[in-house]
Amino acid sequence: MQYSQVAGCRSEARPGLKGECETCGHATLAKCGPRIRHHWAHAFRQHCDPWWENETDWHRGWKALFPPSFREVCHRAEDGEIHRADIKTEKGIVVEIQHSAMSDAERISREVFYKNLVWIIDGSVFVKNFDIYHPLPDPESELGKDAVWIKAKRGMEGANRGLFIRLSEAILEDPQATKARCSGGFYCYFRDVEQELLETYIGHHQFDWVRPRSTWLDAKCPVYIDFGCPYLVRIDTYDESGLRCIRLVVKNDLVQELHLRDRMTDLFAPP
Ligand SMILES: [Zn+2]
Repeated sequence: MQYSQVAGCRSEARPGLKGECETCGHATLAKCGPRIRHHWAHAFRQHCDPWWENETDWHRGWKALFPPSFREVCHRAEDGEIHRADIKTEKGIVVEIQHSAMSDAERISREVFYKNLVWIIDGSVFVKNFDIYHPLPDPESELGKDAVWIKAKRGMEGANRGLFIRLSEAILEDPQATKARCSGGFYCYFRDVEQELLETYIGHHQFDWVRPRSTWLDAKCPVYIDFGCPYLVRIDTYDESGLRCIRLVVKNDLVQELHLRDRMTDLFAPP
């Protein structure tokens, strides 16, 4: 933990300090060895917040992007269950910064507990399994509404360069055709619409995650993957075809959005 209560004040760990856990109230000790990041730990092994994971430098780096009052915020549910959120903004969005893998059960229990929650996950461990392919148009654009894209997959060269069917053509063969149920029509190529597409591009791409940590694909709250560059990768569903896609967002823009918005569902939504 970065903070404990010392004589009634929130304090960072300094050599020799003793404190109290802000979540459970039990005794804590400052851990300030020469080769470790200064932090607080419980004096005795006990049950505090079972969701808490040991912090990495990556964790601390994210928390440092928010004011101290937003960090390690205790959160009590109506039934008395209490947890410590990595970040909670003034307007009430909780940000969980997750380095290790997580089970479906734990991911779901946190989403149910916090509700207004955003995940930021450390992608450095699976970056080699994550491919980002051709750009997609803004789903609200004319082209975005008409094109039904063939899913990209590692090794599928055609689809990875961009291959789609036009719904407007498929409807000529089958008037019942929708994006979700669409056959017929001719294959069209990304390269033939590249100019038009890039004019409406707002960050969407096809991707393939080989051996995915599938719980993040099933998450109900927004998931942003941090691969250690200025862009984060948000996992999205592109359109009513169900195509999974990613959207690149500038890391600093997400931090700004988190200060401005009330609801996790409003992030990067039109004003
Ligand atoms: Zn505690």
